[in-house]
Amino acid sequence: MMLIECPFCGPRDETEFSCGGEAHIARPLAENKISDADFADYLFMRDNPKGLFLERWRHSAGCRRWFNMARDTVSHDVVEVYPMGALPKTAAAKSVYNTSWRRDTAAEQAAKPARASQKQAAKARGRK
Ligand SMILES: [Zn+2]
Repeated sequence: MMLIECPFCGPRDETEFSCGGEAHIARPLAENKISDADFADYLFMRDNPKGLFLERWRHSAGCRRWFNMARDTVSHDVVEVYPMGALPKTAAAKSVYNTSWRRDTAAEQAAKPARASQKQAAKARGRK
């Protein structure tokens, strides 16, 4: 059994959650023209590492909100839980994010304008 810290409800049993797969997969913008092979990489290629992995999780039997989690796939140790749209803060999780092959893909490059506007929207929400 794994205890997961929902950022909105607190610690709950893993049976209340569902995993949404790999986190930080940026969708290419519609106006960008990337090749079919690059789009297929974005759509179908997912990491399945042995070790620390950044995942999306949903508290499906609770508040039903999504969040990100840095979890070791071998030991199931949860290193960090952080909100959607944010990047990890711990050194180990930051390293996993920065060294991911996905950071260099054409789909990721084609999504950069969207990420910039997401940051602006997040800043605007923070000012309220
Ligand atoms: Zn919750």
